[in-house]
This record gives sequence, structure tokens and C-alpha cells, in this order.
Amino acid sequence: MYKSYYGKILRINLTDQKISTESLSNELIENYVGGMGFGVKILFDEIDPRIDPLGVENKVIFSVGPITATRAPMFAQTCVVTKSPLTNTILNSYAGGTLGYYFRKSGYDAIIIEGKSEKPVFISIFDDEVDIRAAEDIWGKGSQESQKIIKKKLEGLKVQTAVIGQAGENLVRLASIVTESRTFGRGGAGAVLGSKLLKGIAIGGTQSIELYDEESFNKYCNEAFELIKKEISNPQTLLAGFSNIGTMVGIDLLNQMGAMASRNHQTGVWHGINEVNSTTFKEKYHVSHTACFGCPVHCGKKNRVKTGKYAGLIQEGPEYESIYALGTECDIRDPEALIVADFLCDDFGLDTLTTGVLIAYTMEAYERGFITKDQLDGLDLRFGNHEAELEMIRKIAFRDGVGNILADGILNAIKHFGEETRSFAMHVKGLTFAAWMPRVLKGMALAFATANRGACHKRAIIGMEVMGIVDPQATKGKGKLIKEIQDKVNAIFTLIGCRFSEFVYPVDLYVNLLNSATGLNYTNEKFMKLGERIWNLERVFNVINGFTRKDDTLPERCFEPLPEGPSKGYKLTREEFNEMLDEYYAERGWSKEGVPTRERLKELGITYAYDKMKKFTSG
Ligand code: SF4
Repeated sequence: MYKSYYGKILRINLTDQKISTESLSNELIENYVGGMGFGVKILFDEIDPRIDPLGVENKVIFSVGPITATRAPMFAQTCVVTKSPLTNTILNSYAGGTLGYYFRKSGYDAIIIEGKSEKPVFISIFDDEVDIRAAEDIWGKGSQESQKIIKKKLEGLKVQTAVIGQAGENLVRLASIVTESRTFGRGGAGAVLGSKLLKGIAIGGTQSIELYDEESFNKYCNEAFELIKKEISNPQTLLAGFSNIGTMVGIDLLNQMGAMASRNHQTGVWHGINEVNSTTFKEKYHVSHTACFGCPVHCGKKNRVKTGKYAGLIQEGPEYESIYALGTECDIRDPEALIVADFLCDDFGLDTLTTGVLIAYTMEAYERGFITKDQLDGLDLRFGNHEAELEMIRKIAFRDGVGNILADGILNAIKHFGEETRSFAMHVKGLTFAAWMPRVLKGMALAFATANRGACHKRAIIGMEVMGIVDPQATKGKGKLIKEIQDKVNAIFTLIGCRFSEFVYPVDLYVNLLNSATGLNYTNEKFMKLGERIWNLERVFNVINGFTRKDDTLPERCFEPLPEGPSKGYKLTREEFNEMLDEYYAERGWSKEGVPTRERLKELGITYAYDKMKKFTSG
């Protein structure tokens, strides 16, 4: 048995209330390592990929990695894998904070939740004590209150909770799962919990893991701390900015490039820069820094609302992506309204990023006359109207009126608001854009188009293009680069490393930490192949659901020139985009239609995935 694992998977069936444990096989450890790898492999093997994501057959896999909750900094996250009700693709989503630490103390490497309860429940896990408990009294409550009630019920046990708010209960397809500090945001995992009548989990325990080679592991941890220290002592680096001010340092930087997506990606110039910029929150609303378990970067920031109805409210956030989605995209220039919007999304259990961009699209559809004020239940949802934004957030969470349309995501909104709105519906595969502009950052264009869960920034070359390490406007070579980054990030997510660790850690360091913790014998090359194996399994899952080249695409707006500022005239041409995609598929060893070939899957040791794909797609 390898070290740094407990060798146990917990399986909870909500239909028959059966709770069991299974051994973690060496095969799973050697080829999938942990975190995302475990989740993707288990889901791929255990479900028919074509199932209804909100049906009883869908499963939810929570997992941690072999380095979680050790001394190693920036490995604090927890992973959730399920089939997304928003995109119909496979979904993996991450939450930092301290949930991973408590998960690790429980003595399990992964938790599989399946079936559907008859009544609302929550699951409590503390060492071997695993219970499915009634949650009727919590159903209908927001995430914060729910967490408090669950913790009260479990008084005396040191646990952390991850719950859904009303959005998840109402099967809103952009619902998140909210932990006590961070959130599993993207892709609607909260709605999957809601479909199972599962309010959430509370987890903790008294277990501890054993390392394979503690001395070496400590040496590599020290190396990691040194790298972080050096990076954050240089004020020019992104990590230093994250540490001092928060991820919102990106606002000024991106705006200077003409790439701060604003008003539903109509422009890359943020006209509210004087009101909402990289230092607004630090200077006026900052309360304290927050960090994931053991992380010296502490990129999280708590802010306090000072005036109005919500005066005194303290919220962790908003971070950069939320400021973009709820702020620059909707042209909301009131920082306090942004703190409140961020809070409401968290409390109702809505993904801020998806919610904001969905509202921005609706604002544009309204201003351009595709929908009327009546269709918006009388809301004057123009750009900049923060009161209307806050009300729309509530409407989505409760499926109230027009909120019922938006609650099923942007693809459903296009159906209702008209085919003409498709050109400015900023999404890929139904997942709305993260805060990056494909017209300025062309590698990002390819990353958005090809990411398995939709327009995702976490599988992309954020730092490299923004910091000018590679030419953001170049297209040649981006296919190869994006493929490599996607594989690398997937491998990091098996550990489960924070996405920002990649700014400072060389691949060697991940490999050395992994080997010294577990006794595995990874090389850099094998580590990259690990990421590629998982990427291909995800892709096969999606191909079985009908996703091919036609879905690896971008909305029309990305092919129009930008109107103003430093990026004036920048656009992506169809030719450039298709060339990048061809290069990318060739690097992946896939067909021109973006379908993995038998040869490549065989090389990755997953020929069985090809057979499964053929079984579902032939005839
Ligand atoms: S950098 Fe931020 S998100 Fe990453 S582990 Fe540290 S505190 Fe968490």
C-alpha cells in the first residue's frame, strides 16, 4: 500500500440509506493519483454518460489528494466531480479554504454519493461514524444559516460543512456548493445535490496519514515555501499582488491591455475604473486577509459594507472573477453593491461567475430590445442598475418569474429571448465566459473553446499571456501550448494543487512532493501523461454526449473587432481560430472532428474508454 492514503472510499447510497466502505486499489492510485483523477475515473466507470444530470443515476464524488492537509503549501483544495446539469458535460469543480483539511482528518480518500433520498437530509461524517440525518428543518434556508444549524446539531465534533442554498434546492442549474469559506462554483454541482434532496455534508475526524519519506517531503515543502516567499517579495509578480491586495489586482492590469471585459464583452475598456479598481476594496472596505489551509499567500480578502441596508455585512470577497461577472460585465460601479451581490450569490448558493455573465447577457438583450420590461417582470435591467441586478440574483435563485428562465442557464435563455441573441451570449458549451477576452488573449480563445467543462479559465494560460511571456496575439504554437497546459493543470488537480501554485512551482516540485509523500515513482513525463489521460477520459465522456468540433467554438462577438482603447481593432478571425483548433487536435492525436483516436487512448492506457465510446456512438 502506498503511503499518504487511507486506502478507503466511502460510498453512501441515499436511496436505500446504505453506507459502505471500499478499498482504494493500487491501480487507481498509480494511474489517477487522487482528487480530480479519482473523481473522473470513478464517474466515467460507474455511470452511463448520457444520463440526466438531475436524475437519480447521477453521482457526486468528493475527493482530496495525497498532499492535502500536509505541510506542503497550496494543496488545500477539495474536488467534486459529477455530470453537469448546466452543460451536460463532465464537471470537476474545486473549493479551497479548510474543507480539505477536515476531509483528510476523516480517514477517507474519496466519497461517492449516489441515489436519491425521499426527504431532505444531510450527511455527517466523523471517522467511522457516518450518518444520514434529517434536514427538513434546514431545507429552504440560505447557506450561512444552514451551516450554523448543522454545526449546532453536531456540537462537540470538529467538522466543516459544505451545503447548498435555496438555488440548489430549486434545481437552479448554476447552483454552487458553499463551504465555510470557499465555494464549488462552476457547473451546477449544487443542483445535483438538490436533486438528491441532499442539503450538504459535514465532515471531520481524528485520523492522520503517514508519509513515505518524511525527511525528503519536508525538504520539498521548504523549497515550496522559499519559492512562494521569493515570489511574493517581488511586488511586480501576480502572486505578490494576490497576497497584498487580492486577485482583483488583475483589474488595472487587464484594463491597461484593453482586456478588462465589460458590458457583456462589448469592450475591453472598463469605464468604471475610477470607482472599481485593483485597490478600491483594499483602501475602503478591507477587513482581513484569509487563506486556504496552510497557504502563506492568503489571497482571500474579507470586506465590510459600510452603508445602506446591508451596512455591517462582512463578506469574503468579491474576488477578481466575481468583480468581473457581477461588476464590469454588468457595468456596476458601486463597490458596496458588489460585496452584497457576492454575498447573496453565496448565501443563495449561486455561482457568481455564471450568474453575473448571465445577467450581463440579459441586460444587453433588454437594452437592444430583444426582451421587454414586462418580460423581465417590470425590472429595469439596464447596464449599471445594481438594484435590478440584486433583484435578478434573487429571482434566479428562487426561479421567480423571468428568473425561472435564467435558472436553466444561458442556452435556455437564448431559446426564450431569441436566436438573434446567440451572437452575444458569451459561453462555450453552456458555461459562461470567465474574465478573459479571447480577442486580446488568443491562447485563451482556444482554452475556452476546448475546455471540457466549458469556458473555463482554470485550464488556461492566464499568467503567460497577461504577463507577456508569450505573445497574446500570436496564434501559431498555441495549440501545442494549450494542450500542454491543460495536461499539466489536470495533473496538478489530482494533488489537489491550487491553480496559482503553477505560477511558482516547476513540474519537478509537484512530482517530488508526490513521490516523497506516497512512495509512487512518477517522473515529469509520467505526470504530464497523467493529466493527459484524465483529459482524454473527460473528452470521451463528452463525445458520448454528442460534443465534437462543432461545440469547441466561440460566440460571434469574439470574431468582431474591439471598438476602443488599447485593444481597438483587435479581433480573432475564423481562419486563425480554425488553424489553432487544427493544431490543437493534431497535438492531442484526435481526429479533425475532435474525437480521441484508439491509438492515442491505447498509448494512455485507456483503450477501454475507446470501446465505451464506440459502444455508445456507433449506430
Ligand atoms: S493562493 Fe489563494 S486560493 Fe491558492 S491556496 Fe493560497 S489562499 Fe488558497
